[in-house]
Amino acid sequence: MTPKDFFIGLSQNKLLNDLAKKYGLQLGAKSVVAGTNLEELMASVKELNAQGISTTIDNLGEFVSDKKEAIEAKEQIIQVIEAIHENNANAHISVKATQLGLDIDYHFCLENVKEIVEKASKYNIFINFDMEDYSHLQPSFDLIDELSKDYDNIGTVIQAYFFESGENIEKYKDYRLRIVKGAYKEPENLAYQDKKEIDRNFIELIEYHLLHGKFTSIATHDHHIINHVKRFVDEHHISKDKFEFQMLYGFRKDLQLQLAKEGYQFCTYVPFGSDWYGYFMRRLAERPQNINLVAKQVFNK
Ligand code: FAD
Repeated sequence: MTPKDFFIGLSQNKLLNDLAKKYGLQLGAKSVVAGTNLEELMASVKELNAQGISTTIDNLGEFVSDKKEAIEAKEQIIQVIEAIHENNANAHISVKATQLGLDIDYHFCLENVKEIVEKASKYNIFINFDMEDYSHLQPSFDLIDELSKDYDNIGTVIQAYFFESGENIEKYKDYRLRIVKGAYKEPENLAYQDKKEIDRNFIELIEYHLLHGKFTSIATHDHHIINHVKRFVDEHHISKDKFEFQMLYGFRKDLQLQLAKEGYQFCTYVPFGSDWYGYFMRRLAERPQNINLVAKQVFNK
C-alpha cells in the first residue's frame, strides 16, 4: 500500500471522521483550516484580503448521507454568503455537491444548491462547484447544466487526471473554471496514474482554457507549472485579468504572497468548520511531507 492509498483510506473512515468532529481541530489541522466558526473565518479572510489576496471559502463537509445534515450545511453556507456581503470581503464560495445531499437524492441536492446560488447571485457572489471523485462527476455537471439555465454566477473544476477532462473542458470552456491535477484515488481505466502524464495533461488544459475560455483559475502548489504558466501568458499576451493562481490555505504562504506582489491575481482556498478530517487526510495523501505540518503543531504546543 502506498502512502497515498493509506491516507485516502483514512480520509474515508467514518468513525475517525465523527471523532474528529467531536474533538475539534487536531493533528496539525489548525495550520491548514481557518478555524471552526464564522468569526475565525472572517478574521483569516480579512488578513488575506489586506495582503491583496482574494479567497474562496469552503465550509468543510462532504459525503453527507443525512438530509438534516445537508440542510444544516446549506444554511451555514448561506450564513457565509451573508458574512461576505456584510464584511464587503473579497471572497467567493466553493461547495461540494455531496455535502448538499447529492448522495441522498439528486433533486433534493438541486433545491439546496439553487437556494445557495440564488442568494449569492443577489450579492453578485460567485459559487464554484468543487469536483469530487468520479462517481459524482456526471451528476455534478448535470447540476451545473440545470443551474446555468437561470444563473451565471457559477463555475466548476476540471481534474487533469481524468482521460475525459479534454472533452469536459471544451464543453464548459465558457465557464469560469478552476483547473487542478485531481485529488482522489481513481482507477486506471478512467484516469492517468503517472505524475508526468497528469502534469502534461494539466498544462494542456490550462493552455487551452487560457486561450479559448473565460476566466481561468490555475490551482496548484507546483512551482514548475506556475513558472510555465507565467512564460505562456507572456508569450501569448494574455492579460492578468483573465486568470488567477490559487493555492490552499496554509500551503506555500511565501509563494502565495510573492505571486500577489508580482501583480498576479491570487486566490486562497480557505476551508473552515468542524468537518475537517477528510480534507486534511487528502492533503497528507497528496504530499506525505505535509506530515511536517502535523509534527510542528504537535511539538509547538
Ligand atoms: P503536487 O503534484 O502535489 O506537487 C508538485 C510539486 O510541487 C512537488 O513535487 C513540489 O516540488 C511542489 N510542491 C507541492 N506542494 C508543496 C508544498 N506544500 N511546499 C513546497 N513545495 C510543494 N482536487 C480535486 O480533485 N477537486 C477540487 O475541486 C480541487 N480543488 C482544489 C482547489 C485548490 C485551490 C487547490 C490548490 C487544489 C485543489 N484540488 C482539488 C487538489 C488538486 O487536485 C491536487 O490534488 C493538489 O493541488 C496537489 O497537486 P499540486 O498541483 O498542488 O502539486
